[in-house]
Amino acid sequence: MKKKVGIMGGTFDPIHTGHLVVANEVLNFYGLEEIIFIPAGNPPHKKGTVADSLDRYVMTEIAVLSNNRFKVSDIEIKKDGKSYTLNTLRELTKKYPDAEFYFITGTDAVIELPSWREPEELLKLCRFVAVSRPGISMEDAKAKISEINKMFKGNIELFQAPMLQISSTDIRQRLMDGKSAKYLLPESVEQYIIKNNLYEE
Ligand code: ATP
Ligand code: MG
Repeated sequence: MKKKVGIMGGTFDPIHTGHLVVANEVLNFYGLEEIIFIPAGNPPHKKGTVADSLDRYVMTEIAVLSNNRFKVSDIEIKKDGKSYTLNTLRELTKKYPDAEFYFITGTDAVIELPSWREPEELLKLCRFVAVSRPGISMEDAKAKISEINKMFKGNIELFQAPMLQISSTDIRQRLMDGKSAKYLLPESVEQYIIKNNLYEE
């Protein structure tokens, strides 16, 4: 029996309660042994992300400290610029030959799959779980996923998780406006943000 391992990629700028709840729901439902969170590297010229990759990595580590089934990988932040998910998964497959990977994304991310590098190859390397996210209805997500599955001979599954209207964009905006983001992210991560003056104007 292969070891079931979840993978959750993201910018985690910063990691929040939405990521953690969704990961835990998928872990329970599919009986995964662990989930590896993979913060993305800094894109060239830092377009799109605000905090440095090292800060995003450290915040992700802090967020998962209390959960021994949640791990963090530095595989993407160690590289300069953008990593392709396909390459990351190929590396992980080599590193963990006895693992069956479950790649976890929100429905907002999975509909972008056609623009990723070699979706068909990627879908062969892992099981794909698309988790519901506010903003996209379940019907729309279902239709889009079946279209993508047809296009790339995939088997992406739609998973209904508790809908949490939490995003890193909203958290960054609140902090820049001097508003509280309490309870939307772990307190320890919030403390790290304050101590290091992240997301300030
Ligand atoms: P940003 O607003 O900066 O894009 P984000 O909240 O979308 O941040 P990401 O790091 O972009 O967080 O997301 C990583 C992965 O987690 C993506 O697959 C995304 O769809 C998923 N995700 C993030 N927040 C949620 C949520 N509240 N519910 C379900 N999935 C989520
Ligand atoms: Mg996002």
